[in-house]
Amino acid sequence: IFLDRIEKYDKDLHAFLFVDRDGALETARRVDADRKAGKPLGKFAGVPIAIKDNMVTRGKPTTCASKILEGWLPPYDATVVLKLQEAGLPILGKTNMDEFAMGSSTEHSAFGPTRNPWDLERIPGGSGGGSAAAVGAFLAPWALGSDTGGSIRQPGSVTGTVGAKPTYGAVSRYGLVAMASSLDQIGPVTRNVADAAALQEIIGGHDPLDSTSLDEPVPDLDAAVAATAADAKGLRVGVVKQMQGEGYQAGVLQRFNEAVDRLKASGATVTEVDCPSFEYALAAYYLIMPAEVSSNLARFDGVRYGLRVMPKDGEVTTERMMAATREAGFGEEVKRRIILGTHVLSAGYFDAYYGSAQKVRTLVQRDLAAAFEKCDVLLTPTAPTTAFKFGEKVDDPMSMYLNDVATIPANLAGIPGISVPGGVAPEDGLPVGIQVLAPARGDKVMYEVAARLE
Ligand code: GLN
Repeated sequence: IFLDRIEKYDKDLHAFLFVDRDGALETARRVDADRKAGKPLGKFAGVPIAIKDNMVTRGKPTTCASKILEGWLPPYDATVVLKLQEAGLPILGKTNMDEFAMGSSTEHSAFGPTRNPWDLERIPGGSGGGSAAAVGAFLAPWALGSDTGGSIRQPGSVTGTVGAKPTYGAVSRYGLVAMASSLDQIGPVTRNVADAAALQEIIGGHDPLDSTSLDEPVPDLDAAVAATAADAKGLRVGVVKQMQGEGYQAGVLQRFNEAVDRLKASGATVTEVDCPSFEYALAAYYLIMPAEVSSNLARFDGVRYGLRVMPKDGEVTTERMMAATREAGFGEEVKRRIILGTHVLSAGYFDAYYGSAQKVRTLVQRDLAAAFEKCDVLLTPTAPTTAFKFGEKVDDPMSMYLNDVATIPANLAGIPGISVPGGVAPEDGLPVGIQVLAPARGDKVMYEVAARLE
């Protein structure tokens, strides 16, 4: 059914960069045969899934929506891909994204944008717009995304789907093409909270191949959602002062306040918490992230992967081949970030930019630690606006970056965050996302509270 829906509707949506019909059917047949043979199967065996195109799949295209990786076939599978296969989940294909996960709209994909199923003239969020649009339009029941600054949660918010970023280290990053390694995290994209919890359980767990992987058992997230009690007595909810005023669309705030009221009505206590460092979190992210990007993307040199372009004229040297390859292979936004990252890491500027940003990162962690002394979870809108129109922000990087203001603190602090649909904004009829943030390793309480908001 899903392969047929993709064939029918993806012409308009462009959620997929590669549809793996044969691979998906092969897994489905294997699961069927095992079922008939009475072999033990995973609880969710047979549920198809789409994955973002920055997770490597052995012998199958993995482009990160970049020309520089066109034609490259990875020689290995990401840990999450192996886990999906073990669990018997057929992989439908690879989803569209902003090039190397840099953007909030998928307009930076080298292969053209994905459209929002709610309104084809609007963006599906980014960078994981393909995964969110696929789930939002029932082209896949489940998908995987990656979240460095909100790329799972913000697309979830603007497409009316659920998107969760687990605690940093809860899901292996082995085989995820690195954007900013200290911030990147893989997570689930689904239509409801119970599914997201189940999917995180499948992909989570310690992996010796990722040095930042948490060495502890996967919490029983599925059961946590199922056990959510009728009332929320004893639950302490914090509302962040810095995430509700200026810059937030009226309808977004209205739906957000209603969500807070619903929790209050079911017995939770709600207090306002002050996180002054959040005013600088966005700026700090847009220094730390490009610094890591400039280092991680140095490997795309025309020698190791995909594209190789020879200099058009003049001497042919390795250096000039690398320059020509990177000039042709990377898009504008990627180049912008590499240049910015190289600059903030350069001698003479390092302390002023990168050093200061790291200090802000520590302050964000302290503000959140203080907030979590008083509260079990924090609630914020996921994004300041509903889905915007194509072209509205693509030529103005600053206004694009501002859409990440509410999602970034979680990445800087390594804490889990989830976006849950909170109805539509009255002024435009488009989905609004409610974000639940929990302390590090607090994925369980995050899912419990998220389930209450559904
Ligand atoms: N909008 C963020 C950025 O452009 C999203 C990054 C991400 O989470 N991959 O950096």
